[in-house]
Amino acid sequence: MSDAVKVGFVPFSAAARGTLVVFCDEALKFGSVASKALGDAAGTIKRAAAATRFKGKSGSALDLLAPEGLKVGRLIVVGAGKATDLKEFDVLKLGGAVAGKIGAADTAVTVIAELPGGAMNADQAASIASGILLRAYKFDRYKTKKKDDDQGPVNIGLSLAVADVAATKKAYASAGAVVDGVVLARELVNEPPNVLYPDEFAKRAAQLKKLGVEVQILDVPAMTRLKMGALLGVSQGSAHDGRTVIMRWNGGKKGEQPIAFVGKGVCFDTGGISIKPSASMEDMKGDMGGAACVVGLMHALAARKAKVNVVGAIGLVENMPDGNAQRPGDIVTSMSGQTIEIINTDAEGRLVLADVLWYVAQKHKPKFMVDLATLTGAIMVALGTDHAGLFSNNDELAQRLTDVGLSTGEKVWRMPLGPEYDKQIDSQFADMKNTGSRNGGSITAAQFLQRFVDGTPWAHLDIAGTAMGAPKTDINRSWGSGYGVRLLNALVAEYYEAKK
Ligand code: MN
Ligand code: ZN
Repeated sequence: MSDAVKVGFVPFSAAARGTLVVFCDEALKFGSVASKALGDAAGTIKRAAAATRFKGKSGSALDLLAPEGLKVGRLIVVGAGKATDLKEFDVLKLGGAVAGKIGAADTAVTVIAELPGGAMNADQAASIASGILLRAYKFDRYKTKKKDDDQGPVNIGLSLAVADVAATKKAYASAGAVVDGVVLARELVNEPPNVLYPDEFAKRAAQLKKLGVEVQILDVPAMTRLKMGALLGVSQGSAHDGRTVIMRWNGGKKGEQPIAFVGKGVCFDTGGISIKPSASMEDMKGDMGGAACVVGLMHALAARKAKVNVVGAIGLVENMPDGNAQRPGDIVTSMSGQTIEIINTDAEGRLVLADVLWYVAQKHKPKFMVDLATLTGAIMVALGTDHAGLFSNNDELAQRLTDVGLSTGEKVWRMPLGPEYDKQIDSQFADMKNTGSRNGGSITAAQFLQRFVDGTPWAHLDIAGTAMGAPKTDINRSWGSGYGVRLLNALVAEYYEAKK
């Protein structure tokens, strides 16, 4: 949880302190609560707007210090665009814009949750709070000195003035659970690899027990008994043993078939013997972004007591060069019995997922599986960093992911699968090899994974471009983005959760 900003909810009648934030539309109109709070300052605002050509465009802001006619020390007018028909994601971004503007503000901030057309409803007000907290999140645990010019929010007590405090608190109980899940995923991605190796990652996942999640950790002997030869081959070169963690949230009907989410958790990827170049290798601490998302998602679902049975499974390894490391040319036997010739030890994520997908398909027989993996650089060549690559053997699941991608702003773009790609991963010595050619590299990776889902409806999200290092957005300034938590939380809420 970000400790920089704390959000509380107060009634509209509460007096503003410190900095006042209000929303206006493109006609520079305010709602009745804001208008009343602004009182005599209307003329000042008009003059300031004219002087700075402020037109109320969505996310833009007018910043007035010690405005004439007001008791507060600072007034920020945030544009809400046309302010009609705002979708949940629009409102979330408005919250982000607020957090972006308050900066190193006064320690007290009051935000009036009202649009020119009337008070925000409880869900919208909760989205404003969520947007503020997502934007304010910073990873600065390892900075021992604060810079003087650090403009980040400093312990701001933010009061969100709302029409109905009780209803907003109730809405925020759910929305805040998702914020916490996103923040948890970001934390895991941002942590350095000397701190967050497989065993430590597993311990952090085990903290979900506090929320009622069942957590089972498979260590090397347990995975050896299960014959997870593909995953174990990757981890054998590291001083840190691999782990597989199975999390279960049973919020649905007893015995009801679960849905499943599977994450690649390569805590550090040097490439192994097929070692990567040095430039930007440090970014490979984020090669566990899929696993981080699954843990963040399980947190969100459990904390908001989602009415659904869910399995989260993550394969945690470190891919290192070593005397005991796996070699190109090695042939490993996966848990499925299928053999894999290792061509490039840097194509390790699919080897980890092969065994975890197979395990989940066999052991939990889910309705569907969605895996997330920072799998290929090729997906960034294809899609840049604004869409995750989506591959699926099921059109309904693919369409649902596409729809929630648009509504949450965590967008996906469907890529093809097809048997014609299989010949790229045919091996002359084993059932398959772990890499194809340079062309279609994200597709052959997905084609490889598909061999381990055993016919289960499945979707694969290649998040190499979206999980970390993506451009900063209205609701994220952190390197680790927490991508996927809001997307998959929405998938569950929209389509798979028993309605209240
Ligand atoms: Mn790799
Ligand atoms: Zn990798």
